[in-house]
Amino acid sequence: MLPINGLHHVTSLASDPQVNSDFFTKALGLRRVKKTVNFDAPDVYHLYYGDAAGTPGSVMTYFPFPHIAKGRHGTGEVGETVFAIPRGSLGFWKDRLVGEEATSFGETRLRFAGPDGDQFALVETDDAREGWTGTVDADHAVRGFRGASLRLRDGGATGELLRFMGYEQEATEGNLTRWRVPNGNGADVIDIETLPGTESARQGGGSVHHIAFSTPDRASQDEVRRALLDTGWQVTPPIDRDYFWAIYFRTPGGVLFEVATAEPGFDRDESFAHLGEGLKLPTQHEPLRARLEQHLQPIED
Ligand code: ZN
Repeated sequence: MLPINGLHHVTSLASDPQVNSDFFTKALGLRRVKKTVNFDAPDVYHLYYGDAAGTPGSVMTYFPFPHIAKGRHGTGEVGETVFAIPRGSLGFWKDRLVGEEATSFGETRLRFAGPDGDQFALVETDDAREGWTGTVDADHAVRGFRGASLRLRDGGATGELLRFMGYEQEATEGNLTRWRVPNGNGADVIDIETLPGTESARQGGGSVHHIAFSTPDRASQDEVRRALLDTGWQVTPPIDRDYFWAIYFRTPGGVLFEVATAEPGFDRDESFAHLGEGLKLPTQHEPLRARLEQHLQPIED
């Protein structure tokens, strides 16, 4: 079995960075753990939100493009990103967010939209993880991800890929198949929603750009990479993202997967007490600092 233990982060596209930061830190109560730029396009922020430390399995990240066109939801993308909340806290969240309840696999979840039409849900879990208590108290705070759904025309090949990655098929209900990684980090669940007649998604504001799975370190990432290459997947070499190392590959259903290391973490260039406060640039973009500080829209906390 491959050393993958659940999700690491989910990365999406947004429009306004201030609206994005306010939604995730104030409404959803996550901690902004990093304010940096897209390493491949440094004119754009890369904002990270999660628990206190930005633990793998809790980290929602965004590339905000102020003038981006809205995406169109469809197949070939991550559908709903689902956060875990404590037992008994759903009522609190129903009062706090505009959403609607839905049930699958015997679980009730609160579905709600992010500022750009991003699709999210909250579900109560028995979860030992601690949430960040910024604007939400410990009895109600988001613990991290519970998982995500993939919306696909044909879920077969992606299901087999998940099995290869160590996930086990747990249940099916209608057009949904639930996969779960044993001994995971809490962000353990992937639901495949099969929609044969549905149009492909068009990426834009509110779309998930990619979904990242967690592996402990560079040695285990290398093991995953070799196993994928041996099976015929086209996988990138490891890329240094400063806070983790990343490999990427495109899945049969069209979703971009990443496998990211849990090391070195978000406190490598900022103290734990001040995570997410300063504009952090990777070494290669440090010469652009003056221009970027002028170009990037300031974000107020
Ligand atoms: Zn990523």
